[in-house]
Amino acid sequence: MRIGGQRSLEAQRAAMVAGQLRGRGVRDERVLKAMGEVPRELFVPGWRRSQAYADEALPIEAGQTISQPYIVARMTELLDVRPGDRVLEIGTGSGYQAAILAKLGAEVTTIERQEDLIAQARGRLQELGLADAVVVRAGDGSAGVPEEAPWPRIIVTAAAPTIPMALREQLDPDGGRMVIPVGPRDRQELLVVIRQGNEWVERSDGPCVFVPLIGSEGFPHDA
Ligand code: SAM
Repeated sequence: MRIGGQRSLEAQRAAMVAGQLRGRGVRDERVLKAMGEVPRELFVPGWRRSQAYADEALPIEAGQTISQPYIVARMTELLDVRPGDRVLEIGTGSGYQAAILAKLGAEVTTIERQEDLIAQARGRLQELGLADAVVVRAGDGSAGVPEEAPWPRIIVTAAAPTIPMALREQLDPDGGRMVIPVGPRDRQELLVVIRQGNEWVERSDGPCVFVPLIGSEGFPHDA
């Protein structure tokens, strides 16, 4: 559908799913469906709505970013979420990743260190009827949420220098799974970590670039 010579946002969303996701190997139909349903344009600043389905990360408020659609889909696929799973997300940002997880039926707790982003993310999730499925908290997510551990699923959407020990320990010993970008500030590897008892098996899904995780088990604030 074309409106004023431009493809409608719905048509852009469908094209994003077909080209950027399915076309690049995202196979999980539930993830593709969720990405086709959540209006990404609600999660970017108003003046960037026309770019919402661009094949790239976009700047959001507080100097942060909303991740590229492909990386959101790939991380979600790697997390392997089932309806009813409790998921801890570190780095709420715009709230888009949390919305995708909620659409998959997860019970999400998401933590953000930038107060400015929290109210906005809550508002967007409310608008989409997803507020009951997502708790947005303020704080340093690199320390996790120990009082609600163990977590069956943990997703970190900011780059960590190493896997935070707190998050390792809070992962469910019975097959808990974490997806996390790990490496120096300029380039990381997207790791999938699976815990069985006191063994943590890691594999890399390939290179990626994220904004830094800032905190007690992340990068220092001023480095
Ligand atoms: N998941 C987000 C989305 O869907 O829009 C994108 C997240 S953005 C790439 C990374 C976010 O992590 C930023 O909003 C940043 O403020 C946040 N962040 C960085 N360090 C953090 C920490 N220690 N605890 C919580 N949030 C943190």
